[in-house]
Amino acid sequence: MSNKLDKKEMMDVFYRRSKEHGLKITPQRTAIYEELLKAKDHPSADVIYRRLVKKIPNISFDTVNRTLLTFSQIGIANIVEGSGQPKRYDPDMNTHHHFRCIQCNNIIDFHNKAYDDITVPQEIQNQFTVLNKKVVLEGFCDKCSKKI
Ligand SMILES: [Zn+2]
Ligand SMILES: [Zn+2]
Repeated sequence: MSNKLDKKEMMDVFYRRSKEHGLKITPQRTAIYEELLKAKDHPSADVIYRRLVKKIPNISFDTVNRTLLTFSQIGIANIVEGSGQPKRYDPDMNTHHHFRCIQCNNIIDFHNKAYDDITVPQEIQNQFTVLNKKVVLEGFCDKCSKKI
């Protein structure tokens, strides 16, 4: 399960999933996906939009926002749960975990075998359908720790 896909394979997944869901592959959608793939910072729609508009001046925020939501619906992006902030997107669909800085809101990926293998409590399994398990650690990132 931990075989990581390279960029070309991720693009193939993008083309395949889009086709499966009857989503037309437009230059703008492709550009949005490529921008998300490049991002390591779990960007919000607004951040992706600001990066893209430099290259594609006629792209609209609405298009970026709707497209990212669609990506999450067809399973090629994850929405990172934020508390009340704008949704943040994650192109990495492989099992991994997050450290979130409560000061600057940086979300940093990390991998840990023990966390991958955590078991879901029985009462949760009885009540809900668990689709993915992710550990979120919160605290201060290295930059913010220095300022405390
Ligand atoms: Zn920080
Ligand atoms: Zn992530």
